[in-house]
Amino acid sequence: MQLSLLDTVEQHPNAANRVKELRLQLEHHNRQYYQRDAPEISDSEYDELFRELTALEDQCPELITQDSPTQRVGGAPVARFRAVAHGVPMLSLENAFNEEEIRAKLDARIKKELGLADSPLLTYMCEPKMDGLAVELVYEQGLLTVASTRGDGVTGEDVTQNIRTIRGLPLRLTGEGVPGLLEIRGEVYLSLDAFQKINQGREENGEPSFANPRNAAAGSLRQLDPRITASRPLSIYCYAPGRVEGATFSSQYEFLNVASRWGLPVNPMVRRVDCVEGAVAYYHEMNGMRESLPYEIDGTVIKVDSFQLQRELGEKSRAPLWAIACKFPPRQAETQLENILLSVGRTGVITPVAQLKPVEISGVTVSRATLHNWDEMAAKDIRIGDTVVVERAGDVIPAVVRVVTERRNGSERAVPPPQSCPECGSAVVRIAGEVAVRCMGISCPSQIRESIKHFASRGAMDIEGLGDKVIEQLLSLGLVRTVADLYRLTKDDFMCFERMGDKLAANLLAALNASKSCDLGRYIFALGIRHVGERTAKSLAQAYGSLANLEKTTVEELTSVRDIGATVAQSIVTFFNNQNNQAVINQLREYGVDPTVVVKTVGGRLSGRNFVFTGTLTRFTRDFARKQVEDLGGNVVGSVSRKTDYVVAGEEAGSKLLKARELGITILGEDEFLNLLEQQ
Ligand SMILES: [Zn+2]
Repeated sequence: MQLSLLDTVEQHPNAANRVKELRLQLEHHNRQYYQRDAPEISDSEYDELFRELTALEDQCPELITQDSPTQRVGGAPVARFRAVAHGVPMLSLENAFNEEEIRAKLDARIKKELGLADSPLLTYMCEPKMDGLAVELVYEQGLLTVASTRGDGVTGEDVTQNIRTIRGLPLRLTGEGVPGLLEIRGEVYLSLDAFQKINQGREENGEPSFANPRNAAAGSLRQLDPRITASRPLSIYCYAPGRVEGATFSSQYEFLNVASRWGLPVNPMVRRVDCVEGAVAYYHEMNGMRESLPYEIDGTVIKVDSFQLQRELGEKSRAPLWAIACKFPPRQAETQLENILLSVGRTGVITPVAQLKPVEISGVTVSRATLHNWDEMAAKDIRIGDTVVVERAGDVIPAVVRVVTERRNGSERAVPPPQSCPECGSAVVRIAGEVAVRCMGISCPSQIRESIKHFASRGAMDIEGLGDKVIEQLLSLGLVRTVADLYRLTKDDFMCFERMGDKLAANLLAALNASKSCDLGRYIFALGIRHVGERTAKSLAQAYGSLANLEKTTVEELTSVRDIGATVAQSIVTFFNNQNNQAVINQLREYGVDPTVVVKTVGGRLSGRNFVFTGTLTRFTRDFARKQVEDLGGNVVGSVSRKTDYVVAGEEAGSKLLKARELGITILGEDEFLNLLEQQ
C-alpha cells in the first residue's frame, strides 16, 4: 500500500515505535550472526523483519534515520574519496620476527625505560594481527559519522559509505556509557570463505582474481561504488581508541571489554597475560592455530595493557614504545614447477594450474598451485622447469608467487595460452576486456560436468546424493548430457554404479523429484547464467515470479530491477536467447521443473486489501498467512493505520489490536481469517 506524502508520523504513532523495535532487533540479529556466529533466527525470518522495516519506511519516509539497517547501502558512487585527517595519528608498529626479538625489543626496553628492570611481571594484552586494512571509525553521540582509511597515518580517505555496508558493525552504539565522541581503530578484513567466493565469481566472469584476502579487502573498501562493496562481505575487528570524550579507560583490556558491550566487534581471541613469557606463548599458540582460523592473520600484536604506562612510554620515531607486531614466518617454499595443466571451468574459462614437485609448507604437502590466469602467468614469466616460490594462505589454494630466475639453465619452456580447448578441442576465444581464455564449445564435456555439479550444489538445486563422483559416472556412461537429463534417470540407471545400492538410488531419485518444486531463486541460480549469483537470482525471482516471465524480459526491464546493472542484464538476455539453453529449459519444464513464486497479483480477490497480523498465531505461521494474502493480491503490512482493512489478532494481541478498535477496523480471529481465505 502507498500512503500519500501528507501522512505524517503523528498519524502512525505505532509505526514509529515498531520501526525502532525492528531496528533494534535487526541490529541484534546482525550481531548474533556476524560477531558471535550464533544466529537466533533463520535467514528468511531475518528477511521478513527487514522487509517489514523497509515497508514501514516506505510508508513513512520521515522515519528513516541514518542508523537504520536499511540505509547500509544508500550512497551514490563518488568520483573520488574526500581526505580525512585523523584526530590522533595512526602510527605503525615496530616488528619482531621471533621470540628473542619480542623479549628484547619490547619487554627489556620497556622495563629499562620504566625502571622496572628487576620485575618479572608486566601485564600485556595480546591480540591476533589481522591481515587486513586499518581504518578509523568516528562515533558521535553513538552514531557512526565518519570512517576513513589509515592512509599515511595522518590523513586517510573517507570510506564511510563503504564501511556502513559491513553488517557486523553497528551504525549506532548501544548500552550504558556511550561517549559523546569515540574514535576507534579497527582492521577491515575478508574471511577466507568470502575471499574464495569472490575469486570464483571473478574467474568465471573473466576478471583477474585477487592475489590474497588483504588485496581483495582493500579493493572492496576503496570501491567508489558502495553497491560493489556491499556485495563483498567485509568484516571488521576493533582494537584501539583514538580520541575519546565522555568516557575513560584504564587499560586496553577494559577498553576492549567496554567497546564490545557497546556492540563493537572485538576479536574473541584476545588475551591478557601477566608477563612477557605469556606473550611469547600466545605468539606460538596463534602461529599453530593460524591454519584453522576462518581469516588470515600474519602475526600477533602485543601491547602494554595499562594506558597510564602507555602514556609514560610514549613513542619514538613514529612508533609507540609500548607495542610491537610479532610477525609469523612466511608460509613459502621453493620447488620445481614440473608441468602446467589446463583446467576448464563451468563457464568454459581455461585456467593454468601449476603441477609442482611436492613440497611441504608449514605442515602441508603442496603439489598443485594456481597460476590465476594467462596474463599473470606471462607477467611473472612462469615456465615449465622453473624453480618457483610457492605460498599458501589458510585454506586458500596455494599460489606461485615468483620465479627464482637465478636457477634457470635455459631448458625452461614457456606455455602460451591454448588455441583450442584441452577437453573438447573447440576453438577458444578471449573476450575483449577480460583476462580469461574461454572454450566456446557448447558440448564441452568439462563445462557440462562443471555446470551439472553447479546445478546440483547446495546453494542451487541442492540435490542430496548427486555428488561429483556420481555426476562423473553419469557422464562417462553417457546417461546424462544436460541437466535436464537428470530428471529422466530411473533406478535401473543407477544400479550399475559403484557402491550404489537400492536405498541410495531410491534416495537420489527422491531428492531429484523433490528438487522439482524448489525455490525459483535457487533454480535461476542453478542455471548458471553468467554474473547471476545467489543474491541476484533471488532478486530476479522476486521481481519476475516465474522463469517464463524472465525469459521474455528485456535489458531495459532488467536494469530497473534492484541491484541489476547493464552487464548482468545483457548476460541474462543473452542466456535466454541461446537456443541450446532454451531447449534445456523446455525439457526441464516437460519433466516438471518449473518453480514459480507468486508476485503481487493485480486483480486478485483481496487486491488492494491491507492486513496486519498481531499477537501469537496458533493456527498458522505468519509466513503462511502472508503467502496466502499475497497470493490473493492483498498486502501484509506491519502497522495499523486508517489504510488497514483487516487486523488478524492471535492470542495476547496488544497495542495494534487497541489501535484497530480505535480506528474501527475489521478485526478477525484466526478462524475468521481462514474462512475469509476460503470464500469464493
Ligand atoms: Zn571445451
